[in-house]
Amino acid sequence: MKAEIVSIGTELLFGEIDDTNATYISRQLTSIGIDVNLRHAVDDELAHIVQVLGTAMRRSDVVITCGGLGPTPDDLTRQAITQVTNRALQTVPAAEQQLRDFFAKRHRKISSTNLKQCQVPRGGQLLDNPVGTAPGLLVEHEGCVLIAVPGPPPEMRLMMTKHVIPYLRKRLQEQGEMPLFTRTLRTADIGEADLAEQLKDILANQSDPALALYASPGEVRIRMHTKAPSQQEANKKLGDLENSIRQQIGEHVYGTDDETMEVAVGKVLTAAGATVVVAESCTGGLIASRITDVPGSSRYFRGGYVTYSNELKQQLLGVPAQILQQHGAVSEECARAMAEGARESSGADYALAVTGIAGPTGGTAQKPVGRVYIAVADEQGTICQQFDWPGTRSQFKHRTSQMALNMLRKRVLGLV
Ligand code: ATP
Repeated sequence: MKAEIVSIGTELLFGEIDDTNATYISRQLTSIGIDVNLRHAVDDELAHIVQVLGTAMRRSDVVITCGGLGPTPDDLTRQAITQVTNRALQTVPAAEQQLRDFFAKRHRKISSTNLKQCQVPRGGQLLDNPVGTAPGLLVEHEGCVLIAVPGPPPEMRLMMTKHVIPYLRKRLQEQGEMPLFTRTLRTADIGEADLAEQLKDILANQSDPALALYASPGEVRIRMHTKAPSQQEANKKLGDLENSIRQQIGEHVYGTDDETMEVAVGKVLTAAGATVVVAESCTGGLIASRITDVPGSSRYFRGGYVTYSNELKQQLLGVPAQILQQHGAVSEECARAMAEGARESSGADYALAVTGIAGPTGGTAQKPVGRVYIAVADEQGTICQQFDWPGTRSQFKHRTSQMALNMLRKRVLGLV
């Protein structure tokens, strides 16, 4: 099955926002075995949208649009679909009631422009949007499925996973195409080359499920995919391969699929019934921010100190002046003292501390840009590691946060 994605919105063409929706939709479609051949970005001009949609629908089996479904005059997607399919719009009463309830609950007045969101080209269906007002649309027209999802990313994502992907999976099956199933193992603290070396026998002999490595700063993903008639059969094939991979490099796998490092850390802390505090210098609060990205993190996160200056390292964490004078703030001694001080003053079970030079300036021959020390303190003592990262300031911060969280995860699991 071939697909095209049409992102609609003048702000995309002005470069004001990145087309992250198209990336997400591409990934979702690819994950079930649909080939995304073309992606377009179109401004809020009816004639342009109609032209792109018309061509895309003649060429592809699936066309997904995002954006332009709202109630304002520049939201023209519904109108464009009506023109391209040459069908009249009709109101879906259940959707209208739902929208009225949505507004009533928020004590907002509903307008006639809002109500146009409950209209669908004849023969089409609306896709429920539980987190926003604009429902999606689905119309089958001359062998092509045209699906419109809203622009706001959380709404778009929910609609894709709740409606669009299950619908397309079913359609693939009806057409006798076996759907694609994927599983991703996420690894940290091992580079792509080392991973390829350790997995070389599996990589050389593996064809189904297929296997590929994708590197990004701070992690390498191992993506497996296979076509199978059912989820159960796919699980068996993917599970067997996953076991073989884990036998080789299991200690580096921190999570699967969409599981981020912060989620993995949350899981191990929750399982251990333990709490953590962070003391950050060069990451400026990024580690605390990532930990608190996880719903429910208040169960295990005590809080964080952002101690950028030497004074605050002394005042809040009790780092001895002598350490700062003798070894400097970017030193193993300072990282250890930060972790131990944070643990003591917070009463948390674990303390994670980072201190380093993010650059691009400020490095010396002894302590170059990219140097960082990461320490974890717990009741057994304190461990500390030094790293030297290449890359930009933001890559440095991300890598440091990733490695620090991984060190914490491994410490809680008793692996370091
Ligand atoms: P609404 O009911 O919110 O108006 P809509 O479907 O009309 O929904 P748009 O008005 O096109 O959506 O976009 C709303 C917001 O969603 C944009 O301001 C932007 O922040 C975000 N957005 C839109 N398209 C994209 C995209 N392709 N990638 C990332 N974000 C997007």
